[in-house]
Amino acid sequence: MSKGKAARVQGTHSHGPLPACVEGFTRLQHSVTQIIDGSTLIGAADSQAAIEQPYEDNILSSVVAPQEDDLTIVIPDSVASADPETDLASALPEAETTVPVSAFAAFGLRRELLDGLAAIGFEEPSPIQKAAIPELMLGRDLVGQAQTGTGKTAAFGLPLLERLDAGQRTPQVLVLTPTRELAMQVAEAFNSYAACMKGVKVLPIYGGADFRDQIQHLRRGVQIVVGTPGRVMDHMRQGTLDLSGLRSLVLDEADEMLRMGFIDDVKWVLEQLPAERQVVLFSATMPSEIRRISQNYLKDPAEVTIRQKAADGRRIRQRHLVVNGPQKLEALERVLEAEGSEGVIIFARTKAITLTVAESLEQHGYDVAVLNGDVPQTQRERTIERLRDGRVNVLVATDVAARGLDVDRIGLVINYDIPFDGEAYVHRIGRTGRAGRSGEAILFLTPRERRFLGGLERAVNQPIEAMEVPGNASINQHRLDRLRQKLTTALQQPVCNPEERALLAEILQRVAQEQSCSPDQLALAALELGLGSKPLLLQGEERWGQSRPGAPTRERDRDRGDRERGGDRRPFNDRSQERGEDGPEDNMERFRIEVGWRDRVKPGNIVGAIANESGLAGRSIGKIRIFDAHSTVDLPKGMPEDVFADLRRLRVMNKELQISRLGS
Ligand code: ADP
Ligand code: MG
Repeated sequence: MSKGKAARVQGTHSHGPLPACVEGFTRLQHSVTQIIDGSTLIGAADSQAAIEQPYEDNILSSVVAPQEDDLTIVIPDSVASADPETDLASALPEAETTVPVSAFAAFGLRRELLDGLAAIGFEEPSPIQKAAIPELMLGRDLVGQAQTGTGKTAAFGLPLLERLDAGQRTPQVLVLTPTRELAMQVAEAFNSYAACMKGVKVLPIYGGADFRDQIQHLRRGVQIVVGTPGRVMDHMRQGTLDLSGLRSLVLDEADEMLRMGFIDDVKWVLEQLPAERQVVLFSATMPSEIRRISQNYLKDPAEVTIRQKAADGRRIRQRHLVVNGPQKLEALERVLEAEGSEGVIIFARTKAITLTVAESLEQHGYDVAVLNGDVPQTQRERTIERLRDGRVNVLVATDVAARGLDVDRIGLVINYDIPFDGEAYVHRIGRTGRAGRSGEAILFLTPRERRFLGGLERAVNQPIEAMEVPGNASINQHRLDRLRQKLTTALQQPVCNPEERALLAEILQRVAQEQSCSPDQLALAALELGLGSKPLLLQGEERWGQSRPGAPTRERDRDRGDRERGGDRRPFNDRSQERGEDGPEDNMERFRIEVGWRDRVKPGNIVGAIANESGLAGRSIGKIRIFDAHSTVDLPKGMPEDVFADLRRLRVMNKELQISRLGS
């Protein structure tokens, strides 16, 4: 510690995040070159990692990683560099001193903000932050188009915090977000940036939370309000949210607010605001409705568009496979077995499909959770938490429910249903490859959805490779690998306590004696025992054929159906057999629907619509015949009346199905 200006930090920072305002960390943003305990240089190595993984913001935690109770940090201070004592360059080998000064300082942000950023490890502004912060610091309106994960929160949060008037007690900044989760996330982000600022109060307000509580907080004085449109309007109408002193409004994820039907609310809020105000609009896409808002309510806005960097996409390996609708579930199980990673998100189009998929996976022993619009807020938060800490490994979600979901440990995203457009695809696959990690994305396409592949490839600006549904050979290989892994782990980390182990050893010895067998034979028997009832390997063809009829799940279902009927056990093991007969299968019922060739309906439209509405798995929808002005479809017997009623009103090709039972 002979050279350099040493800031001594006493304390307990060896674990977990640092308190944001620790004395001595206040200059950290000037450099990541730090010396710990007078000898170890960590900054240089870390800064390399930081360049490769710009969003892996763990610089601080790695600084404090060594188990030191007494941490000494040396910071070259450019202001004091006239002092030879602080000339770090001469104290260190050249290569290790070339770490740049925090680029955030260049925006002219106040010291407290820079400290806050240093504490959470932001060093380099992201492209949208580079572009937006200077404009917003000038007080300009701004329209920003950028995908999720590009750092928009800090892009508006930092300049708005910078311009905050600590003396004013009424709200100065209002951020509208489409969902409660996003409101909380944004409020938390504001709090973390402002951790070193005095007297900044941020309040998230959203539906479902206690109204009075929010009023209390608002009364006590809040500068920044982050909320969902509905609840914000409620407070405005009641006079509990005074926006007369508002300086800035942010519309975060504007397109999502449009999609969720909040756009009139947003306009209403805009109309209540003071004439002199700054409006910031961020959106991943720019539908014309959003454009119009920016034309009508923003004054000469700065426009910033950030194209998804190709490099970002390349961190995510993207593949697609083609599978017929009825075989999707089995294909999914196979993909999960052969490609599954630590955290998986499966995207489905509707709530009903999320449930079908989750149920099926649960039966196959996966720890699954569902996130869709029906899941109550409190449970959603718990679900995300469980996914984050690994208690749940597979999440089945709809687009809206997973919006903004930020969980690092997602290694694989499966698009079980094709997303509506390229933007949605980009957003979905962006749930993996977070925080600088790599990720995998697999897209399921039915044969007729193949034509959409090109559009999605254009959206990510790279090819989405073809893959096959994993065949028995690769699944078996995977199972063997996993078994080897588990066995190795069991050897290294015994599960039983020493007494139990002694007893086990005794049993082994006894059996070995009685049966006079070798240790190898014994180990093998133990291993087989551990396998349980599930067969180790899948039998049959090595590859998985699309036309293969007897997917195991189907066979099981059929068996069950036959048993329940207690009658005819004629096996259905061939599709041609089904085609040969005329009436519906025994456990099916035939229905008439009022769309036909004239309406240009295709079987896929019918299956899709009925599956969405009824919650039936696509595979349980039977034969479809399309006639000139009507069609017939076979559905499982025993359809509940309410489902039937919904189906009657269901529209396909813009015509009501008017579904009716045939021959009943
Ligand atoms: P968006 O709103 O565009 O989806 P967020 O603002 O939620 O993106 O940021 C995505 C993630 O990136 C967050 O975890 C955030 O903390 C992190 N992040 C944002 N800006 C930076 C930065 N300059 N350096 C490091 N991490 C950042
Ligand atoms: Mg955001």
